[in-house]
Amino acid sequence: MDKKLLDILVCPICKGPLVYLKDKQELVCKADRLAFPIRDDIPVMLEDEARTLAPDEEIK
Ligand SMILES: [Zn+2]
Repeated sequence: MDKKLLDILVCPICKGPLVYLKDKQELVCKADRLAFPIRDDIPVMLEDEARTLAPDEEIK
């Protein structure tokens, strides 16, 4: 995914920064513990589409 695009993306819920998980193709908000999918290089920034992180899932 484009690094410039990543720089301007924020969490749609808390407007906080996101962490890009390249291997999972997800954008994670650590504050909300939500992972937004990236489909065909397009980040899907919808709460309905987001995955809730498992309690033991560590995001670095
Ligand atoms: Zn958030």
